Amino acid sequence: MSRQNVEADRAEAARRVSRYHRQIILPELGLAGQRALSASRVLVVGAGALGSAAALYLAAAGVGTIGIADGDRVDLSNLHRQVLHGTGDIGRLKTASAKDRLAALNPEVDVVEHPAYLDSASVMDVMAAYDVVVDGSDSFAARYLVNDAAVMLGKPLVSAAILRFEGQLMVFRPGAGCYRCVFPEPPPAGTVPSCAEAGVLGAVAGVLGSAQAVEALKLLGRMGEPMVGRLGLYDAWTGRWQQVQVARDPACAVCGDHPTITAPIDYDSWCGVPAPQAASRAREVSVAEAQRLLDEGVRFLDVRPEAEYVRGHIPGAVCVGPDAAPATGDAAVVCVCLQGIRSAGVAARLESEGRSAVSLAGGLLAWARAGLPWEGRL
Ligand SMILES: [Zn+2]
Repeated sequence: MSRQNVEADRAEAARRVSRYHRQIILPELGLAGQRALSASRVLVVGAGALGSAAALYLAAAGVGTIGIADGDRVDLSNLHRQVLHGTGDIGRLKTASAKDRLAALNPEVDVVEHPAYLDSASVMDVMAAYDVVVDGSDSFAARYLVNDAAVMLGKPLVSAAILRFEGQLMVFRPGAGCYRCVFPEPPPAGTVPSCAEAGVLGAVAGVLGSAQAVEALKLLGRMGEPMVGRLGLYDAWTGRWQQVQVARDPACAVCGDHPTITAPIDYDSWCGVPAPQAASRAREVSVAEAQRLLDEGVRFLDVRPEAEYVRGHIPGAVCVGPDAAPATGDAAVVCVCLQGIRSAGVAARLESEGRSAVSLAGGLLAWARAGLPWEGRL
């Protein structure tokens, strides 16, 4: 090697050290950790709100290869939260816009475009080439698709979701549970609004997407305590984070002891099942109102199956299952479930049967997010 080449190499090495200096001097990462990041490959599913923050920090940190999977194009209405893209990118494929932005931030990163929505036919091939998957998708179908493929391929998954002023975050390592263990089935179609319908504060995506990048970097750099076995619930309204313990479900359809789903299924059909029509709309109560009712001695009926109830519930709530009726006559009851969807259906049925019943809006997750008492794991 000529002297000129040696000097060029040294200058290049100095530039690299300088770029990452502030994180290399973290003894928990160091040069060895930085090399591990440079050699690693992360797939970011969705170049939207969560994926924007996650991909920017992963690229800035020097993750060697970042795959971006998204079939959408940039729209003006995306820009308040999808900070990967600029006004001049409107109309472009999000993967192309993301590649340009990430290359401008850090040309050392190899950005691989997957300019289509992942589906059952493509997900295994695309995901197989990566070490860690960051899920920034915004639909239940995509979330279950990505989860199932991650389990089948043995890939760690950093999962997050946002809506309005709220976010949730979980990390799944192979063998330590999956998204389905916590949420075995998607909510009936049409019962959970999307960000397009219910809105979202853009910066909430920055909090959750950045947290996803932190968790991915911890996995890749083998540092810290990854958020495995915990569901992080962020309430931007109060600025509070709460955590609920989650556990692998041995009966899980995909990661359980006897899985029934061993290859990607048709997620659009599976998630597209509408809710049965309730005779009337359930009356809902907020967490604060429900807490007041609990203090007054109003009975709480947990309408989930017993297997879900025993894992975790509100202290004092009675397990009645989805079909049961309250044992006592005319006393008012508060129906609860994990997300306030099944409980709304039961409360509406009870009301139609002449009982006085309300449903806890947002369910146990809203209860836990508010930091109220909680027993067990999900
Ligand atoms: Zn599972």
